[in-house]
Amino acid sequence: MTFPLPRKLIESFCDGVQRIYVIEELEPFIEEQLRIWNVKNPYGVSEITGKNSLPNMFELTPDVLRRTLLHGDGTTSFEKEISIPPRPPVLCPGCPHSGVYFVLHKLKLTATGDIGCYTLGALPPFNALDTTFCMGAGIANAFGIEKVKRHVLGKKLVAVIGDSTFLHSGIAPLIDIVFNKGITTVILMDNSTTGMTGHQQHPGMGKTIRNADTYAINYEELLHAIGIRHVSVFDPYDLEETEAAIKQALALEEPAVVISRRPCVMLESERAKPHHPYEVIDELCEECDLCLKIGCPAIDGSTPIPRISAERCIGCDLCAKLCHFEAIKPIAERLN
Ligand code: SF4
Ligand code: SF4
Repeated sequence: MTFPLPRKLIESFCDGVQRIYVIEELEPFIEEQLRIWNVKNPYGVSEITGKNSLPNMFELTPDVLRRTLLHGDGTTSFEKEISIPPRPPVLCPGCPHSGVYFVLHKLKLTATGDIGCYTLGALPPFNALDTTFCMGAGIANAFGIEKVKRHVLGKKLVAVIGDSTFLHSGIAPLIDIVFNKGITTVILMDNSTTGMTGHQQHPGMGKTIRNADTYAINYEELLHAIGIRHVSVFDPYDLEETEAAIKQALALEEPAVVISRRPCVMLESERAKPHHPYEVIDELCEECDLCLKIGCPAIDGSTPIPRISAERCIGCDLCAKLCHFEAIKPIAERLN
């Protein structure tokens, strides 16, 4: 843990070493704490090597450490030229956010994003997010852009924020929108967890961080209480419903929140459910690649006819909904 730091553990560790190096990226958080504690070692070397040698920007790669701490001349390198398959960050197979981003891309909306695994919507094939700053900024950015650029963007602007981030820091900017008579549309991605950082409980889940039962915030009631009159809920696996809900909110001359509600596919409860993987039927496939637009990593698009990994596919049906030729079907249909 970086806070609170385990003082006894660190002091006993420093007791047994000849020199103390604190190697941490960015600011000298741990190093400063050691200096405040006046950590020494039995060899009398109280000097700590840290940011007096190391940069506080960029990654501390092995080569950076070699150059700065061992005063290497840079003629040899730890970096090796090896061929590693590229692995761009992607949403999980069957991720509910995929349906929302497919629709945002289709509608060519400007979207201000926020912090969470849904930030990946900024990447291909969706390219659906235009800004990401810090937690809660998605809603504030949308309102700011709306104020200065509404004459250019019209009603083609949405803010996207996850349930956990919304409860953390999205409510305050939404109150500002209501207070200042904004008309911003917010898409609240409620996947019933804090996805990106490891499924930590949050106040909308009905469980404390120690998994004890507690009160779960009702988003609809909360939104009505702060003055949002238009609140609707859609299932992001239903692409038609998703598109209709977003369009309906955008047509209003008032602030609106549309809630995309479906649990994260990586939740234990979701993984325990039986999955029925899909496959591409060669004879029906027209090689149009439309199914790749859902950005599912279970689909390999490197061959003319896309291939679906039966191990990774959870059978969400999203890719099948995109195929105009009914070439994607559950494997079970062929086996029955
Ligand atoms: S959308 Fe259908 S027809 Fe097009 S590549 Fe995918 S499986 Fe084939
Ligand atoms: S049904 Fe299609 S989109 Fe859904 S997980 Fe399987 S391959 Fe991915």
